[in-house]
Amino acid sequence: MEQPTEQPAEQPSAPTSKKGAKKAEAKAKKEALKAQRAAELAAAAANVNLEDDPAQDNYGNRRTTASAFSKDAEEVEIRSLDESHNGKKVIVRAWLQNSRVQSAKMGFVELRKGGNWNIQGVIMASEQEPIVSRRMVKWVTSVNPESFVAVEAMVKKPLEPVKSCRVSGLELHITKCFVLAPAPAMLGMTMGAASQPIVNFSDEGAQAGDADKGPETTPETTVPAASMLTHLDNIAMHKRAPVQQAIADIRVEVKRLFRSYLEARRFKEFEPPCLIGAASEGGSNVFRLAYFGEEAFLAQSPQFYKQFEIAGGRERVFSISPVFRAENSNTPRHMTEFTGLDLEMEITESYTEVLSVLEGVLLSIFRGLQEKYAVQVTALTEDGFTIDRCATEIETVRTVYHSEPLLLPEPGKEIRLTFAEAQKLLREEGPSEFANVRDDEDMSTPQEKALGEVVRNKYKTDFYVIDKFPETARPFYAKVDDAGTTVGDGVRVTNAFDFFIRGQEVLSGGQRIHDPTELEERIRAKGVDPESAGIKEYLTTFRQVGVPPHGGGGIGLDRVVAWFLALPSVHLAAYYPRTPKRLLP
Ligand code: ATP
Repeated sequence: MEQPTEQPAEQPSAPTSKKGAKKAEAKAKKEALKAQRAAELAAAAANVNLEDDPAQDNYGNRRTTASAFSKDAEEVEIRSLDESHNGKKVIVRAWLQNSRVQSAKMGFVELRKGGNWNIQGVIMASEQEPIVSRRMVKWVTSVNPESFVAVEAMVKKPLEPVKSCRVSGLELHITKCFVLAPAPAMLGMTMGAASQPIVNFSDEGAQAGDADKGPETTPETTVPAASMLTHLDNIAMHKRAPVQQAIADIRVEVKRLFRSYLEARRFKEFEPPCLIGAASEGGSNVFRLAYFGEEAFLAQSPQFYKQFEIAGGRERVFSISPVFRAENSNTPRHMTEFTGLDLEMEITESYTEVLSVLEGVLLSIFRGLQEKYAVQVTALTEDGFTIDRCATEIETVRTVYHSEPLLLPEPGKEIRLTFAEAQKLLREEGPSEFANVRDDEDMSTPQEKALGEVVRNKYKTDFYVIDKFPETARPFYAKVDDAGTTVGDGVRVTNAFDFFIRGQEVLSGGQRIHDPTELEERIRAKGVDPESAGIKEYLTTFRQVGVPPHGGGGIGLDRVVAWFLALPSVHLAAYYPRTPKRLLP
């Protein structure tokens, strides 16, 4: 467990050359002009006089669609449209994300809903029932992007598959179109920009479209990319982008897999408190707040409460809860609030029982995310189909943030190195700057990343464990190795470990001290007062009853999602990232 340091955000470099900046500026101007023209068009369309239009009941702005649609039209989600709908009349509610005028009589729109499910809509003038007038064609193709619409349409097969849409084998021939919630003519961030990789995660600098900084473009596209600040200032567009929808869906699945693996092994869920009465795990990085004339603190981890559950006879517990750290760490790995996936369990013989459960739960998450599973349609037949749990979402993320799949060890061949073995590997096979790393000093982040490379090359895995950390690098509750093993200048090692993926820590865990005398001795040795608030109550619990040997670990959910997908920052994996400089939205 390494102490976070104050350091500037690590960012991939944005285009900095003068030529690049000029080009980007010109591109931005072009984009702005385009948006302005679209806005003018939309304003003109909004003024269209519907009164003498024979199709006037089939389009327009509405608050509700009650009695607007044909009785024989079926409400469907875009994601559910399939061959069986071909030739049928449907109602679809979605965001209109693009439109294109083909002629005065014909236009195309793109409708999106449910993450990145989109389908092409065709609007064609017709004097036959259902009537579609030219004015209606003009009006529909002028609806502002990201407006929420409800359309009635005939489902038809396109002449050729529509490559730009996920539902490529069908299209909607629109006969009615109502705008239920119009978007403004100028969006703070377009879907194009929202779907570009973010390269600037700094909490400082330009806001509102980053106009004074100039837009950034990624080499692959011509659409200007926006900074994380712009994304957060346009939170709805940030979230609507298919890449963010996919990340959020993967996050949900990680939690589900965590919970189901543990519940299948007799673990019980509990909710630790977020409000606590003492900064029990160390004073400096805790948030303080006023509490009825007293002071309260936000929990830095559920550690003590997990142990109280074990003392209270719950045997195996887990929690999914917010964790708060008042660290001024402006890095892509840190947030001031994150979600902890925590567990604690009784040990029968060895702390490696805990290590195996934690290894098992993380591997089941990583394998589970990529797995396909069979669904049987009815209990009576063998008919069925396979579902990808998250394969499509992972693919969606990779189209924006390219990454190699996470290399996992073969079952039974998991890599567990002791801290001393890991340091030796780094000295002997790592970059020369790490030729003198010591076995009794904690690893720095660059050391961890370099070790990740060495392990990947040597053992062909991105997932591994480093065990037996020196006691200098662990908190007072870490149990010292009974065999009395020492490293460096006689520093004892602990039954404590960290787990890594792609050279970055995602989990800290180990065996905890359950004997009150030993616990008090370690508390004192770490320079903590056993009579101080919070510590006293913690220690007393172990004196009040016999607490069985136990251990556990804490996983950072945001980091698991981010590093599994090799995202450039953990902030992308959080719904609303909290950083030292950002509390809104
Ligand atoms: P680091 O040294 O990277 O700051 P830590 O050693 O302080 O992390 P622990 O206190 O052991 O972390 O927390 C357990 C897990 O919680 C970590 O392995 C990590 O996945 C996650 N985590 C810790 N701090 C943060 C943070 N500030 N933001 C996001 N996740 C975090």
